[in-house]
Amino acid sequence: MKLATLLIHNGHDTDGATGALGTPVYQTSTFDRGPDFRPGAMSPPAERLEYDYARSGNPTRKALEDAAALLEGGAAGYAFSSGVSAIASVLGIFSSGDHIIAAEDIYGGSYRLLNTYFKRWGLDHTALGAVNPETIRATLRPETKALFIETPSNPLLKITDLRACCAAAREAGIITIVDNTFMTPLLQRPLELGADIVVHSATKFLGGHSDVLAGIAVTKTRELGKRIYAVQNSFGAVLGPWDCFLVARGLKTLKVRVEAQQATAARLVDFFLRHRNVEAVYYPGLEGHPGSEVHAAQAAGPGAVLSFKTRTTGQAQAFLGKTRLAAPAVSLGGVETIASYPVWMSHAAIPVAERDRLGISPALIRISAGLEDADDLIEDFDAALS
Ligand SMILES: *Cc1c(COP(=O)(O)O)cnc(C)c1O
Repeated sequence: MKLATLLIHNGHDTDGATGALGTPVYQTSTFDRGPDFRPGAMSPPAERLEYDYARSGNPTRKALEDAAALLEGGAAGYAFSSGVSAIASVLGIFSSGDHIIAAEDIYGGSYRLLNTYFKRWGLDHTALGAVNPETIRATLRPETKALFIETPSNPLLKITDLRACCAAAREAGIITIVDNTFMTPLLQRPLELGADIVVHSATKFLGGHSDVLAGIAVTKTRELGKRIYAVQNSFGAVLGPWDCFLVARGLKTLKVRVEAQQATAARLVDFFLRHRNVEAVYYPGLEGHPGSEVHAAQAAGPGAVLSFKTRTTGQAQAFLGKTRLAAPAVSLGGVETIASYPVWMSHAAIPVAERDRLGISPALIRISAGLEDADDLIEDFDAALS
């Protein structure tokens, strides 16, 4: 079946116990183990009852985890209390003394995890400005275990060639982890391009309504899945049943939301390109955007996130103060259009000289297109920019 169908019919579309079409919220911490103790039932309990304690498993979470695995084309999925806890739990499969190759412009929270806690615990990493087969090969060490990348990147939407990088990693005997938050499985399926683990901040497009914090990890193989499950169960950063319900509910409309938001993003790009106060627009769907061809070969669309740079810092800050429809806020992927200001938000902790080197200017704004009417957004943005 195609993805649109799988979003609705994914093995959890009808509750086995009641026939409910809605995903039941099993708001419980524990499960009655009485049947294990009935006469004649004295065999290892795990063989008969799937659930015993909600940290180890919950039917509402299972519905979301199975749906996520199916959508990404993986063997197993896991739901966490946030995107960063999904990423931390994936990194938890490595050991002190291991080494990871990461892209320099992965999500700031991922970078912070690697650069502080995991470094302190002995998991070393090298951050690469450009990730490609040559730089990967030049960075490999005997103890390198994984490549960690994200494409398109934030906030300049830089593209990394997933097929080529995953192949180089595989050749070197290391696994590839891809943060697929910006694309969603609807537009990009890294496991099919050679990756081993996909992670998501489900807070963004998967949940889609700016009302829940959640993370997802999906593995290509059962073996990798078991390693992540062991971390999930040991560290316990699981997603609660109500939040699982919200993300599963969001998933059902992923296709219509992402397609509409992507169409609006294209309209906005067109508008920004023509505006006299805009100096540059960054969007993987733009001809001439570095990597646009690679992106088109690995993804089904350019997505709903774009960035633009005004001619002066004052114009960018005035835009944020004057727009009435875009919320000046952190995050993306919700039904509301969001305008983020990287130098005060996602990249505030980076020293100015380093920010300049990365091209993250105080005149740069990132837009996540929402579900408002594109004409209204353009009218509002024109007023705010002018
Ligand atoms: C937001 C985000 C994260 C972190 O997810 P949280 O749900 O905020 O913990 C990770 N990666 C990317 C690309 C993100 O945008």
